[in-house]
Amino acid sequence: TIIPERRPEWLRVRAPKGENYQELKQLMRGQSLHTVCEEARCPNIGECWGHKTATFMILGRVCTRSCGFCAVETGRPMGLDWEEPKRVAEAVQQMGLRHAVVTSVNRDELKDGGAGVFASTIRWIRRLNPECKVEVLTPDFKGSADALRVVMDAKPDIFNHNVETIPRLYKQVRPQAVYLRSLQVLKLAKEMYPGTRTKSGFMLGLGETWDEILEVMRDMREYDIDILTIGQYLRPSFQHLPIQRYASLEEFAALKAEGKKLGFRHVESGPFVRSSYHAHEQADGATDT
Ligand code: SF4
Ligand code: SF4
Repeated sequence: TIIPERRPEWLRVRAPKGENYQELKQLMRGQSLHTVCEEARCPNIGECWGHKTATFMILGRVCTRSCGFCAVETGRPMGLDWEEPKRVAEAVQQMGLRHAVVTSVNRDELKDGGAGVFASTIRWIRRLNPECKVEVLTPDFKGSADALRVVMDAKPDIFNHNVETIPRLYKQVRPQAVYLRSLQVLKLAKEMYPGTRTKSGFMLGLGETWDEILEVMRDMREYDIDILTIGQYLRPSFQHLPIQRYASLEEFAALKAEGKKLGFRHVESGPFVRSSYHAHEQADGATDT
């Protein structure tokens, strides 16, 4: 097959704009703070920062895993920075965020997988920003209930962990992960704190079929997941998995409708959707239409 590297019209990158965006950008430059939004050159930055939502990456820049779609460097990470939680909370404060997303690399070499730093980050954000919603997008902690409990006891508003793709493609896409283990982590999080919203998502364009996608969506509902995100896979470099196809806008819309039928509380489905896109709409009581 021919790999279509030329992007269709609807995937040409949009220029970020908006007052809040410009203001926050200035601030970030001044403070040398780092967000995933800027580092990953996320196309949604204008919109997200406009809504006072941003994503922070904690636990370093080196990951113990080697997912086929991900641009983060694989290797053995160095130590732990217990000052990081406070710095992130201060950044949230300076940016005046209403919804902060905290994510990390995998730290499989640590006994708690970095759960302690996650928990401390949630608590610091709350201490300095009592009005701000906190969402965590965590690793699977190798399925450890103990590690998960450490995070959940800090009571994030949303617990997010992505399945990323359909199980048949795990070997290429998430070689060190296990599909059912990821679903189980999400279910366990919900059981520990039933009031927490659970969230997961996957990408289109890695070689999945329509039936396989629906199967995953049904599994997600079986594991009690409230919020679903579906986006287009975009290859970070030629070292990464090729794009098998660009899903059409119609397909994204059809999947959103399927998701609503299946009973998800909130579904974000579109070519630019990332895990944290429109996150500010998902933490309150509202259900989308
Ligand atoms: Fe940042 Fe996530 Fe929004 Fe992208 S979608 S700008 S990473 S908060
Ligand atoms: Fe990237 Fe996360 Fe996979 Fe690490 S575990 S390679 S950070 S997607």
